[in-house]
This record gives sequence, structure tokens and C-alpha cells, in this order.
Amino acid sequence: MNIFKHILKAIILLLIIFSLLIAAFEFGAPNGVAKPFVVKNECLESMKKIQGACYFFLMERPKFTAEVEIGMLTGGGYLKQINSCGAVKASAPKNLPEYKIIYKRSGGEISYIDIACPQHGSLSRQGDIDKEKGLPNGFVDNYIARVKTRFDMYK
Ligand SMILES: [Zn+2]
Repeated sequence: MNIFKHILKAIILLLIIFSLLIAAFEFGAPNGVAKPFVVKNECLESMKKIQGACYFFLMERPKFTAEVEIGMLTGGGYLKQINSCGAVKASAPKNLPEYKIIYKRSGGEISYIDIACPQHGSLSRQGDIDKEKGLPNGFVDNYIARVKTRFDMYK
């Protein structure tokens, strides 16, 4: 009888330890294993908003060929507030980062509008060369490995 109790205790203890480990795995990493992704996603969202705002700005100014600055978009009511990249803000809080707007016009048509973050790269290159830009080295690989491991657990 006693031995059953001991085994039960041991099992419960093991379960608690196991769930703590899972919790640590999921939510742990105090410096934020998931955080670089969050910052980057926010940044990409900001860049998309800027891109959209810039499109309307240029559409309404067919003759405009100078550089578009963020201030023009926010000042003109095209963009709600200055979208600054979280990553850059954290590293240089005073010297606020400028997203760079690159666009090309041929004739009256807008050929493209691209936005570049000094930290995360260009919006148009997120599918390839800038995919891992602004994320710690090997971060994407590790993350994918982690996700894979997690799927394997349910097989
Ligand atoms: Zn950024």
C-alpha cells in the first residue's frame, strides 16, 4: 500500500516537473525567444501601412517626384502616427529611426513603392534576402526546429 502512495507521489511530482518544463519551453527565455519575431512582425505591419499611405500620397500628387518622408504622410493625414520600428526604438530611443521610402514612377504610373527599415530590411525582400534580418543568428532555424519538435510530440 505504502509503495503505491510513493509511486503515485513520484508520478504526480514528475507530471508537475514536466508541465513546468513545458511552460518554460513555451513562455520562457527571459530575453524573449519569441520577441524578435513580434518586433519584426510589428515592424512589417508598420511598413505596410506606410506603403499604403505613400500610395495615396503619390496618387494625389501626380507631379511629385521628390523623396517622400514619413512626416509628409503623417502631416497630410495619410498615416495616423509616426510608425517607428520597435527594434530601433529600443536600441536608440532618442535618435528616432527613419523608415526609408523608395518609389519609382514612370509616366503617371507608380511602378513600385518599397519601405526599408534600418533593422529589418526592405519590405519587398522579406520573402528572400531580408527574411532573417533583425533576428538573432540561427533564430529562424531554431524556431522551425522547435515547432517541428512540437509537432512530432503529437504524432
Ligand atoms: Zn524594423
